[in-house]
Amino acid sequence: MADPTEQQPETQESPPEPREIPDASNCPLVLVTGATGFIANHIIYQLLHSGKYRVRGTVRNLKDDQRIDPLRHIFPEAKPPLELVEADLMQVDSWREAVKDCTYVIHLASPVPTGEAVEEDKIIKPAVEGTQHILRACKENPSVKRVVYTSSIAAISGLFLTKDVSASEADWLDDNEAGQVLYTRSKLLSERAAWEFMKKESDNSFELAVINPSMVMGPVTCDHIPASVFFPKQCLERYTSMIAHLHFPFVDVRDVAAAHIRAMTIPEAAGKRHILHGHSMWLDDIAKILAAEFKPQGYNVPTMTAPYFIMKMMSFFYTGTKSMLPSIGKTVAFDTSRMTQILGINPVGPRYTLLDTCYSMIEAGMIMETDDYNGPPGMQRAEDGGDDPAAAEEGLAGEEGAPPGVVNKGFKKDDPAGLKSVTTEKA
Ligand code: NDP
Repeated sequence: MADPTEQQPETQESPPEPREIPDASNCPLVLVTGATGFIANHIIYQLLHSGKYRVRGTVRNLKDDQRIDPLRHIFPEAKPPLELVEADLMQVDSWREAVKDCTYVIHLASPVPTGEAVEEDKIIKPAVEGTQHILRACKENPSVKRVVYTSSIAAISGLFLTKDVSASEADWLDDNEAGQVLYTRSKLLSERAAWEFMKKESDNSFELAVINPSMVMGPVTCDHIPASVFFPKQCLERYTSMIAHLHFPFVDVRDVAAAHIRAMTIPEAAGKRHILHGHSMWLDDIAKILAAEFKPQGYNVPTMTAPYFIMKMMSFFYTGTKSMLPSIGKTVAFDTSRMTQILGINPVGPRYTLLDTCYSMIEAGMIMETDDYNGPPGMQRAEDGGDDPAAAEEGLAGEEGAPPGVVNKGFKKDDPAGLKSVTTEKA
């Protein structure tokens, strides 16, 4: 299989060739913070798979099997295997140990709320102070050469449109626009804190590169459902019968992972922000793509666009609908020239991303299977052990035999992390 850190072709790859796993024992050590996260899973897979890096991941609790099990299955054949250490954003000392001997640090750990009300102190404080703790630990550790920090388009344009947006890395959301949306403020303030640290506190012993992704979609391999993939899940579960006419910017998690890895070493990436963005699409058009694929498989995906007057009427009863009203019909676009020219990322096609997102969640049991579900095209279902009866025995296949938290149990044994495409096309 091609090295995933290199640019992916736009066409379907041929089946992977068996290959000797390179021994990375003498290669640079990369720290990935928040290893249990959606994006971190893919970065770790691509780093290990490349055979060019040793990888250390941070988790909050090494005893939390449910959170950690997917990591154990990501690339178990890696030499040396993934190392896991405990670190919490609010515990300064944990970062001194975590960054020890690392050449690169990819910092993703940050509270990402999934809907429930959370206090400001549980979101903004860990995001901002945690970033400062990590950068200070890097300054004290001469082995660190570059930190790649995962910010968001939230720090550029915000996440809720009130006007048509066309933005580049030169744009910063201002404090008023960030308003009281805690997640948006956490990303804005923590990215700002990172650049301020580099300006005022750093001694130039290491460099900083920042990645600002739009909404990240693609195969879900972690134990939880990331907020950024809620919409396709809701479509398949027919959470609503009509779709709001909202513009949705998204990017494939595999492109985001490759971008982080390239931002570690490409000289021109240092000292810059990089928007990572694939496609801006109307939610109703996304729903149509999902309907074409999944309606024949028994998922009653809604495709009707909600007219404005209906949204307006509903807004009197539902605060969620009320908050959407200013964004209806507004468009969002990003300048992606740094992504293509500096990082060399040419985003994969939207259908590929959307279908892989859904199939991964169905296969993981995060979305219920219908009686008519056929499984991902081009792939033999693993429920019956695929062509390898041992897979069923090992609990890779069936619902009951799978260890708790192994959300990728439905994927075939040669792709236990489910990180290869489950569909048949990329563009
Ligand atoms: P996840 O929620 O899947 O992962 C977040 C990670 O942060 C988890 O590993 C979590 O650990 C860890 N974490 C949270 N709080 C703490 C803490 N106090 N101390 C240590 N670790 C902590 O998120 P994503 O993978 O979606 O996002 C990763 C990063 O990318 C975040 O910084 C996010 O803001 C950013 N991003 C994400 C986008 C998206 O669409 N998904 C878009 C743009 C940016 P635990 O398992 O213990 O909870």
